[in-house]
Amino acid sequence: MTDFKDSWKAQTALVHGGTQRSQFGETSEALFLTQGFIYDSAEAAEARFKGEDPGFIYSRYANPTVDMFEKRMCALEGAEDARATASGMAAVSAALLCSLRAGDHVVAARALFGSCRWIVETLMPRYGVETTLVDGASLQAWEEAIRPNTKLFFLESPTNPTLEVCDIAGIAKLANTIGARLVVDNVFATPLLQRPLELGAHVVVYSATKHIDGQGRCLGGIVLSDRDWIDEHLHDYFRHTGPSLSPFNAWTLLKGLETLSVRVRQQMESAGRVADYLAEHPKISRVVYPGRPDHPQAELIARQMKGGSTLVCLDVGGGKNDAFAFSNALKIIGISNNLGDAKSLITHPGTTTHKNLSEEARTEAGINPGTLRLSLGLEDCDDLIADIEQALAKVG
Ligand SMILES: *Cc1c(COP(=O)(O)O)cnc(C)c1O
Repeated sequence: MTDFKDSWKAQTALVHGGTQRSQFGETSEALFLTQGFIYDSAEAAEARFKGEDPGFIYSRYANPTVDMFEKRMCALEGAEDARATASGMAAVSAALLCSLRAGDHVVAARALFGSCRWIVETLMPRYGVETTLVDGASLQAWEEAIRPNTKLFFLESPTNPTLEVCDIAGIAKLANTIGARLVVDNVFATPLLQRPLELGAHVVVYSATKHIDGQGRCLGGIVLSDRDWIDEHLHDYFRHTGPSLSPFNAWTLLKGLETLSVRVRQQMESAGRVADYLAEHPKISRVVYPGRPDHPQAELIARQMKGGSTLVCLDVGGGKNDAFAFSNALKIIGISNNLGDAKSLITHPGTTTHKNLSEEARTEAGINPGTLRLSLGLEDCDDLIADIEQALAKVG
């Protein structure tokens, strides 16, 4: 039976999804800053531990404020169940490691967030999990990497920082033919611009640190999937390894979700305008923006996403010196490795977020010496363009 709530559109789910009021009827979500819970009797404690009574036991397992955040994200994502984590990396590592064992094989797109790549390339092999990194944009590369023991596919789309896109529906179909699971890191798209579960992915992960908080305050993450997979694989892993989200951060993220759609809409609009401005500028040698018709995968983007992105990738003509000079001359836009914030932020991936990659791996990922990643904030877009214009005037 479908509930009235199941028909809510995203913007309504973002404000009301998962809300559980206490006996006081508070308007805003309550913050249950507690480690544990008191039972009415020894029998009640026994029943709860037996699973006969669904109440809370301990905040490493579950907490009412964290539960509201998980339920709101489920409503938004169309997922059956979720576990919220202390950071995006806790979500990614839990989603990847909870179902794998020595002897399994994982195929992942090469263009991964640095720490995600470390888990696949360095950590997994230590525990006997074989891994293959492929060009995520090539369906054929995914297919050719399959081995008899392949259990998991992992990708990020659009990618960081070059905003390349993977065909989620095509890769999910391939995973289904061999009974493997596809895990999608959906940070760059946000839950509003891309719905991986609808496209056939089996597990979705977020760093809630980015757009979901969106105001630069706290770290968080979440893993969403079907109930069977969570019960079978994630549930025990999560309880016993303890990557739990703090109730205070869950509360902050709940408040972040309330404004997610208005923020993402404005940031995306600014990103589109800034991308168009940069594309015409003589000192800019490359602009990649998923909302522009000149994106090499524009057709796939139109099929799988509801909008472009809140980020723009650009190359300043003369390489690293020019990229640094431009970044240093910006007055509103801040230099930071973060993204998805209310404040516009610029990153030079080659010397920061992607500095651990070999020169060859960086080139392969499309990261040139002059490549910058710009995350659009909530400032007036005219001011942002004026800031970019005065900074570019100081380059070269
Ligand atoms: C930031 C980020 C992460 C890690 O999230 P944290 O909250 O910093 O741990 C993972 N994947 C992507 C794509 C990210 O941008």
